[in-house]
Amino acid sequence: APATFDRDLRADFPGMVTHDGQPWHYLDTAATAQKPRAVIDAMARALGEDYATVHRGVYARSAEMTLAYEAARRKVAGFIGGHEDELVFTRGATEAINLVAQTWGRANLKAGDRILLSQAEHHSNIVPWQMVAAEVGAVIDVCPLTDDHCIDLGAAEAMLTERHKLVALGHVSNVTGALLDAPRAAAMAHKVGAKLLLDGCQSAPHMGVDVAALDCDFYVFSAHKLYGPTGIGALWAKAEILADMPPYQGGGAMIDRVTFERTTYAPPPQRFEAGTPAITEAIAFAAAVDYVEGIGLDRIHAHEQALVARLRRELAAMNDVRLFGPADSAGIVSFAVGDIHPHDLGTILDESNVAIRAGHHCAQPLMDYLGIPATARASFGIYSTEADIDALMAGIARTRRIFGRG
Ligand code: PMP
Repeated sequence: APATFDRDLRADFPGMVTHDGQPWHYLDTAATAQKPRAVIDAMARALGEDYATVHRGVYARSAEMTLAYEAARRKVAGFIGGHEDELVFTRGATEAINLVAQTWGRANLKAGDRILLSQAEHHSNIVPWQMVAAEVGAVIDVCPLTDDHCIDLGAAEAMLTERHKLVALGHVSNVTGALLDAPRAAAMAHKVGAKLLLDGCQSAPHMGVDVAALDCDFYVFSAHKLYGPTGIGALWAKAEILADMPPYQGGGAMIDRVTFERTTYAPPPQRFEAGTPAITEAIAFAAAVDYVEGIGLDRIHAHEQALVARLRRELAAMNDVRLFGPADSAGIVSFAVGDIHPHDLGTILDESNVAIRAGHHCAQPLMDYLGIPATARASFGIYSTEADIDALMAGIARTRRIFGRG
């Protein structure tokens, strides 16, 4: 049975009941997580009694807000084992990857250089690289997957050459929950002189992350998948890499001195944060990190892995269910029930207050590889319970009856 927390965490989440007051079996945390009261309250305070702009500290409220914003940066950086000077707030993981592609990428990629991605990437770790590759004439290589849909690092090793400047991989797949052996990927990338970018959207919420131990060069993630608000995420990059990266967007707050003849830029991370930042979101992001750290990533991981194990076991016992990803998938279970379309399954499950994701999960190349248009995906969070799995399994049984499949 899952490691139980010492209190009922669901009570912390106002979003976990339906609008007519029923328990909601929310199994779409990989898309976005529900928010605990602590995060909602932190955001309300920041928008209310604490509100002012940052970096204009001639009056006390603004100076306090600046301290809170920079404390949030320190908290978020520390959460992944990084230093505050290496942590850029972005609009989300998507913007963080675009930032790296448009600044580091344009400055470092030349015609004929190569970028290694995998077949399992989210569109946000594909399209930004296609855009910069088209601009500079670089080439994208695609690493295949193993039989259980993990990134095949043996194949990656054989593909990597001195022409590769970047390896960009999902740390955990948002479709299969497969966990990458990041230190091994880093060693391979570094051996040929390439940098490693990890898309941490699906790892940061589910396991302890230490960028130094992972040995990556860039790590990106989004607050909203970590029980924080939308509209903010983070790019962590090694200090010496950030120091050499040209700015992304121009504007206020990212400059050192502006004249019409010549403008000089602020050092990182400010260089990459043009304009008034997402102040309240940053503060609520830090509150989410506090909340998660208060529970403990090890316990969260154990809790979710126990739920994954049970769900995979029960699904595997149905003879017409196809399970994707490895047995120890991190917090995510993708599956197909016979020939029932995942959208039909999701729609019928919704009638019993079970929310799953059905679709291509922004990973169409992976769907092509699997030879299917879509999967059904159940994903867990800290508030997920055995009752959610009971409701999901009952809903699947009901769907099969409706379709005359059982
Ligand atoms: N990468 C992965 C693996 C994801 O799961 C997601 C969100 N589905 C993203 C990138 C994009 O994150 P965001 O939409 O928050 O920018």
